[in-house]
Amino acid sequence: MLKGKTALVTGSTSGIGLGIAKALAQQGAHIVLNGFGDSAAPKAEIEKLGVRAEYHGADMSKPSEIEDMMKFAAAKFGRVDVLVNNAGIQHVAKVEDFPPEKWDAIIAINLSSAFHTTRLAVPAMREANWGRVINIASAHGLVASAQKSAYVAAKHGIVGLTKAVALETATTGVTCNAICPGWVLTPLVQKQIDDRAAREGIPVEQARNELLGEKQPSLQFTTVDQLGGLAVFLCSPAADQVRGVAWQVDGGWTAQ
Ligand code: NAD
Repeated sequence: MLKGKTALVTGSTSGIGLGIAKALAQQGAHIVLNGFGDSAAPKAEIEKLGVRAEYHGADMSKPSEIEDMMKFAAAKFGRVDVLVNNAGIQHVAKVEDFPPEKWDAIIAINLSSAFHTTRLAVPAMREANWGRVINIASAHGLVASAQKSAYVAAKHGIVGLTKAVALETATTGVTCNAICPGWVLTPLVQKQIDDRAAREGIPVEQARNELLGEKQPSLQFTTVDQLGGLAVFLCSPAADQVRGVAWQVDGGWTAQ
C-alpha cells in the first residue's frame, strides 16, 4: 500500500516508534529512522523487510537538528509522505518539585518537535496532494494523572496541534491524526514499573499488575503491533476522511 512512499518516524530506535516503522515498512514504505542509542540493529531490521532505511540522529529538543533531519530526508528520498511524531520522554514528580529543565525538555521533545517536523513536512505533502501526519499522543492527551504535569500538558497540546493541522489541510489529500495509547510495555513504561517496585518495596510483577489495574480496565498492555496496525490504517484510502481524531488504543482507560 505504501510502496515507493517514505515514512519518517521520530524516536524509532526503540519501542512504539520502531514498531510503527516496521509496520509501515511491511507496507513498502522506505523509512527514515531517528532516536538515540543503537541505530544499526533497527536499520538492519527494517532493511530485512525489503525497503530502504536511513538514520538521522537529530535531537528532537533542538529545532536546528530537526531542520537538518528534514533536509536529510528530502535529499535521500525526495520528500516525506508519512510523518510519525513519536519521540517522547517522561518525568514523574509533583508540580512543586518538578525540575524546570525537565519541564522544558518534555515540552520540547513531546510537543514542539512535532510542530517543527510538521511545518517542514507539510509543504511537500500539499504539493503532492497526499500525506499523512500521525502524532503519537497518549491517553494522557485526553485525561490527566497526578505527577505528570509536563507530560499531560505536552500530550494535550499535541492533540490540539493535530486538530489545527487537520483543519488547515482539510481540503487536501493530507490528513493529520493522533493515536492515544494506554500502557504499552516499552522501556519508557518499564522504568516507571521498576521505580514503583523500588519505591514500594514490592516485586516487579506486582508493580506491573498494580500499574495496569489502576488505569487500564482490560488489564492488558496495548501492543506495539496494535499501534502499527492503526498507523497503517490511517495511511490507507479508507482513512482519507479521518481527520483530526485522537484515537484511543487504551484498553478502556479513557472510557471510565
Ligand atoms: P521509548 O523510550 O521506548 O522510545 C522513545 C524513543 O524516543 C526512543 O527511540 C528514544 O531514543 C527517542 N528519544 C527520546 N528523546 C529523544 C530526543 N531528544 N531526540 C530524539 N529521539 C528521542 O518510549 P515509547 O514508550 O516507545 O514511547 C514512544 C511514544 O509513545 C512517546 O511519545 C510516548 O509518550 C508515547 N506513549 C507511550 C506509552 C507507553 O505506555 N509506552 C503510552 C502512551 C504514549
